[in-house]
Amino acid sequence: MEIKGSCCCGAVQFVIDDRPSMMGKCHCSRCRKLGTSTMVFVKRGQFRLVSGEDKIQSVEPQPPYKYVRSYCRSCGTSLGEPLSADDTFPINAHCLDDDPGIRISFHEFVAEKPDWAQGPEEEKA
Ligand SMILES: [Zn+2]
Ligand SMILES: [Zn+2]
Repeated sequence: MEIKGSCCCGAVQFVIDDRPSMMGKCHCSRCRKLGTSTMVFVKRGQFRLVSGEDKIQSVEPQPPYKYVRSYCRSCGTSLGEPLSADDTFPINAHCLDDDPGIRISFHEFVAEKPDWAQGPEEEKA
């Protein structure tokens, strides 16, 4: 199983070998503003950056927030942590071009979820 992903302009391309370990959604204001709130967690050995490493700009977190957030310098797409040295790290689920084969299994910082974000589930017609 190979799951491809990319930024909006296509400069950053990556491949995830085999399905990610989990998918979660963070409702903190930082993740919402930086644009990576739904993420898949990948193991370093299963993640390959195919192109665009020189385009990736990272933003370090301030406590209590814990995830580095990166974006493509050309198009602004939020990527997650594709340059992480950790064993497991988050990648923006919105960058995936293929179905990762898993679904959202947890939510973080739910107390920071804005009231306007409450509503009916989006169902595909
Ligand atoms: Zn881009
Ligand atoms: Zn967050």
